Amino acid sequence: MKSTSLCWLNGRLLPTEQALIPVNDHGLLYGDGVFEGIRFYRRRAFRLQRHLQRLQLSARAIALEIPLSSDELTAVIERLIDAFADDDGYIRLMVTRGAGALGLNPKSCSQPNVIAIADQLTMIDIGQQAGARLIVSSVRRLPADGLDPRIKSLNYLNHILAKIEANHAGADEALLLNAQGRVAEGSADNVFIVRNGRLLTPPCSEGALEGITRELVLQLARDNGIETSEQPLGVYDLYAADECFLTGTGAELIPVASIDCRAVPCCPGPVFQGLQQAFRRTIDQECGGER
Ligand code: PMP
Repeated sequence: MKSTSLCWLNGRLLPTEQALIPVNDHGLLYGDGVFEGIRFYRRRAFRLQRHLQRLQLSARAIALEIPLSSDELTAVIERLIDAFADDDGYIRLMVTRGAGALGLNPKSCSQPNVIAIADQLTMIDIGQQAGARLIVSSVRRLPADGLDPRIKSLNYLNHILAKIEANHAGADEALLLNAQGRVAEGSADNVFIVRNGRLLTPPCSEGALEGITRELVLQLARDNGIETSEQPLGVYDLYAADECFLTGTGAELIPVASIDCRAVPCCPGPVFQGLQQAFRRTIDQECGGER
């Protein structure tokens, strides 16, 4: 019987509600762990090796040894997709430090937990059709000398605080600035603007995750003759944009309708629409049919 909510936990495939880890796992106690969000289309994981590479780098950066090789993780993901009821879905792959003493010292944790949950992804809170309404949050992105933004850790609290601020403001999503007041990224997505036909996004050194969708969108733009620039952006640049959109594995590409109640003139704009078509074509090429 195929299911729409399945979990692979340390070697066993289970209904998600039966997959349990100890309450003294440091992933829960301290956010001590790393993760990836991966989409699959037509039963093929999209850009899986890039996700596994980023997971390995995040784990290495926090001195966490993943007990499975990338080949073994690939096999886990494929097994999960095979057992899933739908052709399309989302996988949350996590590696936690594991169960240990209540103190934060990871020395007390002997065995990481490897968890992969497959589910349907419902982006209910972001208006795909009309475009997302954004706010610029007062919550700043953690600086790289506190927690490097390239590490995709389980520690998302400052992003959550930004999202709460967006909720309170009646907006769909929040943008976080870095400590210098320049644009970093959204709470779970990267941000792009278009100005005078040029596609602009902050470099990751400004405090953005090295988004896999971001990387693809930059490539697709160059392939289609659109001039791109990774450059620092201020709040004024957001307000002055002709187009704005968000990218992410969960988000895919979402056009932005307004930022701090200032309407973005073109939503969805022509550059966005062209890139969205190219993005869908890439998915069709790479996830073309049944495995
Ligand atoms: N920034 C943050 C903070 C995220 O959580 C995500 C989602 N993984 C992204 C950007 C987008 O990255 P990707 O395109 O690799 O999903």
